[in-house]
Amino acid sequence: MKKVRWDQILSVLESRVSKPNFITWLQSTELLEDAAGVIMIGVPNHYAKTWIEQHAVTEIEMLLAPYYSDIKEIRLVITPKKSTDEDNLPILQAAANSIEENEETENSESPFGAHHSLENFIVGNNNRLAFAAAQVVAEKPGEAYNPLFIYGGVGLGKTHLMQAIGNQILATHPKKKIVYTSCETFTSEFIQALQNKEINSFKKKYRHTDVLLVDDIQFLANKEGTQEEFFHTFNMLHQSKRQIILTADRLPREINNLEERLTSRFGWGMVVDIQAPNYETRMAILQAKAAERGFTLQPDVLDYIASTITSNVRELEGSLLKLLMTAEVEKKPISVEFTKRALKDLIDQRQKQTTTKSVIQTVSHYFNIESQQILGKKRQREIVYPRQVVMYLLRELLNLSYPQIGDVLGGKDHTTVMHGANKIANERKTNQAVEQDLKSITSQIGAGK
Ligand code: ADP
Ligand code: MG
Repeated sequence: MKKVRWDQILSVLESRVSKPNFITWLQSTELLEDAAGVIMIGVPNHYAKTWIEQHAVTEIEMLLAPYYSDIKEIRLVITPKKSTDEDNLPILQAAANSIEENEETENSESPFGAHHSLENFIVGNNNRLAFAAAQVVAEKPGEAYNPLFIYGGVGLGKTHLMQAIGNQILATHPKKKIVYTSCETFTSEFIQALQNKEINSFKKKYRHTDVLLVDDIQFLANKEGTQEEFFHTFNMLHQSKRQIILTADRLPREINNLEERLTSRFGWGMVVDIQAPNYETRMAILQAKAAERGFTLQPDVLDYIASTITSNVRELEGSLLKLLMTAEVEKKPISVEFTKRALKDLIDQRQKQTTTKSVIQTVSHYFNIESQQILGKKRQREIVYPRQVVMYLLRELLNLSYPQIGDVLGGKDHTTVMHGANKIANERKTNQAVEQDLKSITSQIGAGK
């Protein structure tokens, strides 16, 4: 894989933000380290850190994505320059000034994903119903569908749509309080509140809001305490007709070990799905995203990307950005040949994506267990079943032999593997639930997880 060049990333960012912002916040950043999916970026001071977190980190992640197979975190680290030469002073002053400006203007606009709007959400057959529901909820929060539950695979626009509803409500009712959180943040804040005896302020935050947006609610699986807390939060809000919007990668009843009272509540309002976009929608998305950045691409270039990158919108957007970035850096017109070359690494990488690792990761993610448990020796049913699913899929998808699979799974005997894989193959024919699991997992592997 090609090594990322931070100066190239910066040159793209330079074209995206105003010149003063670039000079003040971004110019003196550096790529420090990129080990084990954690990317450390050095920033000169905490003003820059805050500004980048609020305005640029998503874009940075997207620009970096093609260079890494798995970005877990982008960490901004303050690394003050040793020499405070004259040149730095005006920048720091400018920094102090603009942060004040920002607090007045931008912060009051939207506390989350400001660029996600209903206007820039491209509608196709894959998301038409979800979009229609979103419009209704944005217009009459708390009245029409409560909760709105949006589900679908990775990178298909769930977070975008949810935040777009929030932004739309904020635009028409600037006084309404809207809280956006991910299920993981909700969980860790809850645990912290318990530890620090701050449960009241935690409750205040989540129960005194007009709209609550919780992203990736499937992570409630197996977290009993948090489920209990979320149950009460949900009831409080719902009873007082406050809008709740949830997203997940699957249907409520497919979330493992989720209390029945939550499963049923999640279905009280409207449950809508988002599917992968078809070719026409992929073309429309590419066109719109290029136009947003001031580019008009030739139809054959759009066609090449839309036919090659088929799994999800995030990857589509990532490849487009990579293409635009390469064109800007090399100052070349964008032809199909140029596009093929610019995206070669990314496409090669995608082809190799159905690897043993991705199968194990997807299966463990699906069953909410650790990859390590699949490789381990424990014999509980919650682990044995996923492990056998892995055995079956490695054979089906990658044509590995039984001994090879045994090796991949941390040295298991080939007869154990054969038994496991055959068991799943047989159950698939007779057991609907197994069939459903396999279908969901394969589609997630296909979606480039
Ligand atoms: P998810 O939450 O489902 O994993 P996101 O909402 O983060 O996916 O979407 C991934 C990227 O794709 C975001 O940059 C988002 O703006 C973009 N995106 C997804 N769907 C659409 C769409 N229909 N129109 C425009 N952009 C989209
Ligand atoms: Mg999301």
